[in-house]
Amino acid sequence: MAIYSEAVIHEIRSRTAIDQVIGESVRLERRGNRLLGLCPFHSEKSPSFNVNPEIGRYHCFGCQASGDVFSFLQKRDGLSFLEAIEKLAGQTGVQLPARESNARSDIAQADKERYFRATQFAAQFYADNLLSGRYPEATAYIARRGVPLETVRSFGLGYAPSEWSTLVDAAAAKRVPVADLEYAGLAKPRERGGGHFDMFRNRLMFPVRDLSKRVVAFSGRALSSEEKAKYINSPETPFYKKAKELFGIDLAQGPIKAAQRAILVEGNFDVVSLHAHGVSQAVAPLGTALTIDQVRLLRRFTKSVVLFFDGDKAGRAAARKSLDILLEADFPEILFAQLPDGADPDDIARRGGADAVQALVQQAKPLLDLLIEELILPATGSASPSAKAAAVSELAPLMAKIKDTTLLEAWIQEISRRTGLSAGELARRFRPGATATGYASSQSARPAARASFVPQPTVNETGSTPFDDAPFGDAPFDDGPLPAGPEAEVVLTPLSPMETELIVLLHRRAALLLPFLHTRTDLCMEQREVAEWARAVAAAHQENGPSLSRAFEMLEEGPLKSVIGRALMLAGPLYEEKIQTAFHAVSLKIRRAWVVTTRARLLDELQAASKRGDDDGAFVLLNQLQRLNEFERDAR
Ligand SMILES: [Zn+2]
Repeated sequence: MAIYSEAVIHEIRSRTAIDQVIGESVRLERRGNRLLGLCPFHSEKSPSFNVNPEIGRYHCFGCQASGDVFSFLQKRDGLSFLEAIEKLAGQTGVQLPARESNARSDIAQADKERYFRATQFAAQFYADNLLSGRYPEATAYIARRGVPLETVRSFGLGYAPSEWSTLVDAAAAKRVPVADLEYAGLAKPRERGGGHFDMFRNRLMFPVRDLSKRVVAFSGRALSSEEKAKYINSPETPFYKKAKELFGIDLAQGPIKAAQRAILVEGNFDVVSLHAHGVSQAVAPLGTALTIDQVRLLRRFTKSVVLFFDGDKAGRAAARKSLDILLEADFPEILFAQLPDGADPDDIARRGGADAVQALVQQAKPLLDLLIEELILPATGSASPSAKAAAVSELAPLMAKIKDTTLLEAWIQEISRRTGLSAGELARRFRPGATATGYASSQSARPAARASFVPQPTVNETGSTPFDDAPFGDAPFDDGPLPAGPEAEVVLTPLSPMETELIVLLHRRAALLLPFLHTRTDLCMEQREVAEWARAVAAAHQENGPSLSRAFEMLEEGPLKSVIGRALMLAGPLYEEKIQTAFHAVSLKIRRAWVVTTRARLLDELQAASKRGDDDGAFVLLNQLQRLNEFERDAR
């Protein structure tokens, strides 16, 4: 997908003032070399959203959102990466190379016009039929469902007559090519005798419109109960992907933004009925389970969603299924409205009006809360230990999807309160890397992806580097895989203050990378991923590769970049002449801290080994301790 070169992207980035772009929507106040404001991506009362124009990045210490100006625009305006590039290129006057040959895009443009001319024509035709009064069965149905005329008009509801080719014939009369109807999935060629027939017959028609109110497809509801399919939808086309559209979003986008809440229902009629009764934040997926694209579309407008599903077993199961995907899309608030048994949203709206709907919305409870309640018997502590364990395992993959650390912490406390399990133990179980799904696997795939901009770290498994013959003294553990550190961490935790300082210094002066490696400070860092990154950059640097800041810029967005970006974000002003001294001091501190913890661990193990009478083990440990002492001496 990389259509634009790194060089062009770099050019745009360096010409863009990130504080100005972010300043359009966030009030920023200066604090030293950074700017501080209220985070636009989670709700907060005291500002934790930092922007550092010097390194061109933002970082929120509340929800951990971080990135550069492109990712900010992607998140704020719901743009794709390419769209963000194009937008900023326009503003900064950077000339972009053409994305496609003109001939190809001309054809695409012509196809698009044909398509939307056909859908627009059909929408008008269906709507006219319904409003004409010529089809009493359709009018009667609408009246029976209690849909007022005004709502019929605003949704553009229509009727497809039961004859075989009313649409095809009407199109012919207006010189709309039948091929275009076919292209838009509205007509099909007859198998015999030539000509075309209509796809939708004797159905109430719901036009599916996108955000800019273009009709992209149709959903048709059977009027006769003899029809096998209650709903049929347009086939997928180049301009219609069912999994990406939400029914009603064209009308609901404004109200959702204004109320800062979306109401998700299951069917088209629920949407129409809620809107008809003044609840206009309602949208529905198109007859499928909720998809990540649909949820992301919604997330552009709000952080809060209420699932307003049928009050039966199927409705609850559907809600449960949606939870995963809503967490995935980073919805901080996912509520579930409990409808009376057997009632659907249309019933509620028609019997009780907007007030009844709003009352249920107000009483909606966090879906996760209900799930926890269901899994773990209410706070009485009566659940058996094995039931608790099972519940925690079931919750783990869901909790691992929560990106907002504050929110995650709150849920951990809640589950701890209910199960009596310690919050620390739960946090460990719920850590993204603790499950086999999602996060952890994408993490392990990351190092390979990073290799695209820097050569693979030239460090072998024992930790020896190309600088082994350097005159900086021996590395601690050249002759064997000695004290293995704590088990490999998959998830990146924030850097310690010392490591933060070190990264900032390295970033300021890439020449420090060599002493960093020579003194083996890299091996002593808690954050191994970061050390590995520094090694990779050092190797690249040696070959006149990218500079350190460029390497950082090109690092793929993800936990590693976020951790390093956060470190850079915190950096105060630095005095050039102090850099060298500060570097030596901090790298020494890191090595010493490592020596202290490693020694404590080795001594523990030694004690255990001698208790067991494991002489061989004790001997190895003694050896390790001796080498640790040597390393410490050299580190002074
Ligand atoms: Zn935030």
